[in-house]
Amino acid sequence: MTSLMTRRRRFLTGAGAALFAGGCGCAIGLPFKLAHAGESCAAQTAESQAAMTPAKALQDLKDGNARFVDGKMRNCNYMDQVKSTGTGQFPFAAIVGCIDSRESTTTTFDQGIGDVFRARVAGNFVNDDILGSLEFACAAAGAKLVLVCGHTECGAIKGACDDVVLGNLTQTLANIKPAVAAVPGFDDDRTSGNAAFVQAVADKNVELTVARIRERSRVLRDMEKSGDIMIAGAMYDVHNGRVAFAWP
Ligand SMILES: [Zn+2]
Repeated sequence: MTSLMTRRRRFLTGAGAALFAGGCGCAIGLPFKLAHAGESCAAQTAESQAAMTPAKALQDLKDGNARFVDGKMRNCNYMDQVKSTGTGQFPFAAIVGCIDSRESTTTTFDQGIGDVFRARVAGNFVNDDILGSLEFACAAAGAKLVLVCGHTECGAIKGACDDVVLGNLTQTLANIKPAVAAVPGFDDDRTSGNAAFVQAVADKNVELTVARIRERSRVLRDMEKSGDIMIAGAMYDVHNGRVAFAWP
């Protein structure tokens, strides 16, 4: 057991447990809650989370999006999941996504209440606060996967391409500018009017965000190296609901 895991156990059994994870021992020992995941509507438990691997977590999100695209969603009773998770949460993944109204983890990945942490900011980048949130999700609360999920037709990406200046949004878009600068070519039109350029920037932004997580979070980098988590990237298509899992 790594020292990180030891620290996590201490955190979850200390004062932080009640605040974040619910400090719940109540889920343990309830056999009907042990069989989560995939096709089941059962909420995640400490046991199902412990049994989850990073690769399985990624596959569960892939399978969930496939069910969504195929119109074969689980149609779970969310209120049953609310009742199951009210005293404790054991999510298996943390997703960094845009605020865009057309993409919802619960729907587009066919996940339920308590399955996935969600950090949302226009342009799905990371800063210190989001990195801290992801460190909590994985090192303190047990998530096995960090997925950076961009999307097509992203207004924030378009704004960064066009150097939009608007109140606090100016600073928000500055976080996306490295991706704009890192996309070569498109010399005829490097504005939001060029759909191919916009998508190239969106792709690069996911790639750079994945890299930035590894660079700027020693906690997550070490967890990935030791195999405790996986860090991956994806792109949601607002036209057809499909997620391309491109990184890795
Ligand atoms: Zn967006």
